[in-house]
Amino acid sequence: MNDTSDVDSTSDVDATSDVEDASEVEGASGGQSGDCPICLCPITDAKTLSLCGHVFCQLCIDHSFSAIGQYCPICLKVYGVITGNQPSSSMQVQDSFSHLPGFENFQSYQISYHIPSGVQGKNHPNPGKSYYGTDRTAYLPKTEQGTTVLKMLQLAFSRRLIFTVGKSRTTNMENMVTWNDIHHKTSRIGGPSG
Ligand SMILES: [Zn+2]
Ligand SMILES: [Zn+2]
Repeated sequence: MNDTSDVDSTSDVDATSDVEDASEVEGASGGQSGDCPICLCPITDAKTLSLCGHVFCQLCIDHSFSAIGQYCPICLKVYGVITGNQPSSSMQVQDSFSHLPGFENFQSYQISYHIPSGVQGKNHPNPGKSYYGTDRTAYLPKTEQGTTVLKMLQLAFSRRLIFTVGKSRTTNMENMVTWNDIHHKTSRIGGPSG
C-alpha cells in the first residue's frame, strides 16, 4: 500500500511562482481587417461607426450598443447622444390661461415653433435644394406630467429631433418641414386624446 497520501496542501500558497503572463502583447490590432472584432468572423452586413470608422457586423454592434452601451467597443468613442437633422428653428414656451379638455382645472403651456424656410444640408433628403418652413403651435396641460413632457420636448428640440425635412404626410409634398414622429397636441379642442 502506498501510504504517501498525506499530500495535504500546505496553506503556504507561495506567490513566488510569478507566472508572468507576458504572452507577447503585440500590437493587439492583429491584421485581419476583414473580421468583425466582436464575433471574430468575417463581417456580415458591415456597419461602420460614423465618428471613429471602426467596422462591425450590423447585428454585433447593435447588440453591443444595447447590451453594453452606446460606444465603440474598440476605442470607446461615445455614440450615446442621438441628434437629428431638424433645420434651424426656434421654440418658445408661454403660459396660457386657457384650459385644455380634460384638464379644466389647470392652466396650459403654449409651445410655439418657428422653422423658417432654408436650404437642405447634407443630412437632408435633397441637399442643396430649398425646403419650406413652417410655424407650429402645440399645447400641454400645466400639470406635473405636462411639465415633465415639456422638459422632454425641450431636450428633444435641443437635440434637433422634433422636426425633420421630408415628404409631408398630410400634403404629400416633398421638401417640407414635418413633425419627426413626436406627437403633439396641436389643437385646444378635440379631447385629451391628442
Ligand atoms: Zn460580428
Ligand atoms: Zn471605434
